[in-house]
Amino acid sequence: MIIESEILKVEQISKTFSGNSTPAVNQVGFTLPQGELLGLLGPSGCGKTTLLRILAGFEKPDRGKIYLAGRLVNDQTLLIPPEKRNTGMVFQDYALFPHLTIAENIAFGLQTKQTRLSRSEIKARISEVLLLVGLTGLEKRFPHELSGGQQQRIALARALAPKPSLILLDEPLSNLDVKVRQKLRYEVRRILKQSGISGIFVTHDQEEALAISDHIAVMQNGYLEQLGTPEEIYTQPASRFVAEFVTHANFLPAFRQGNYWKTEIGEFKIPVVDLSTEVTSGELMLREEEILLHPDDNALIFVSDRQFLGREYRYCLQTFSGKRLHARTTINTQLSIGTKVRISINNLSIPIFPE
Ligand code: ADP
Ligand code: MG
Repeated sequence: MIIESEILKVEQISKTFSGNSTPAVNQVGFTLPQGELLGLLGPSGCGKTTLLRILAGFEKPDRGKIYLAGRLVNDQTLLIPPEKRNTGMVFQDYALFPHLTIAENIAFGLQTKQTRLSRSEIKARISEVLLLVGLTGLEKRFPHELSGGQQQRIALARALAPKPSLILLDEPLSNLDVKVRQKLRYEVRRILKQSGISGIFVTHDQEEALAISDHIAVMQNGYLEQLGTPEEIYTQPASRFVAEFVTHANFLPAFRQGNYWKTEIGEFKIPVVDLSTEVTSGELMLREEEILLHPDDNALIFVSDRQFLGREYRYCLQTFSGKRLHARTTINTQLSIGTKVRISINNLSIPIFPE
């Protein structure tokens, strides 16, 4: 069934490149509501670009169906070409035409559209998208006269100009330095929200994905590991992989003893809801910001290093067995290197990932 408010519906998409033994994309399925931004997150090589190229129509999947704005664009027998899918794309390297002006670059996508626009309509649309991306008045410049961040805004303006129903962004900020990158990620979100266009934003940066997405899809080895809101992905990771990739948490071996998880740094009570579980050993997930440090001369854990991050400290701790743990504290917790500390966890429901 197709629901009208869904801009994209993907069913069981798989793709194995010839010569490869494992699929680049493996039975991926999800839906995206109209007007929302999906962050597609995963390590390098997990299949993000391949999935995006399949959605755009540049790559043919071996199996599966794709519906765009309620219309079937891909199945076993049907393959609607990219120019007829009404999607826009933005790439990591901007891909602007160097010999064309900014106005000509933006006009490019408008002229090739089936519905031919008049010259004045094209001019008006160019001004409109330049205003949207905050670069009014740059029509006559050439790409090399703009900064990297400005060029990426132009690439976004060019993709938005034909009013696509879905915009696909493949690591659009990865070539920019960190300051520009952080500013532009919120700009991309604002621009998409303001224009009402749905988007898929590919990134390997978990912080970027958490910051800008309405929904996050985490991929690993071609599989979609988890789909959820940023809060769900962060607080209820569905697998050890998601937990580690998204939260950078600590993982500590634990064994069940009655109603407690026993670890080398102490015992933690098992939440009542989890008491019936058959699991007897695994790894506890301790988020850096949930670890509280208490100086104690008799403790077996000590501060081995400390990073001052401006708003907080990140402490590196070493346990008796030599395991390293990381903790983030406010700047009010000032402990010098070598200090012995006891640890408590500010979380009544510590996740456990079975062995
Ligand atoms: P990501 O964008 O997440 O880094 P890709 O989608 O580019 O990952 O690649 C997924 C897997 O598919 C990788 O193992 C990659 O080597 C392989 N792959 C991608 N494109 C091709 C291709 N054209 N031919 C063969 N293998 C490919
Ligand atoms: Mg890629």
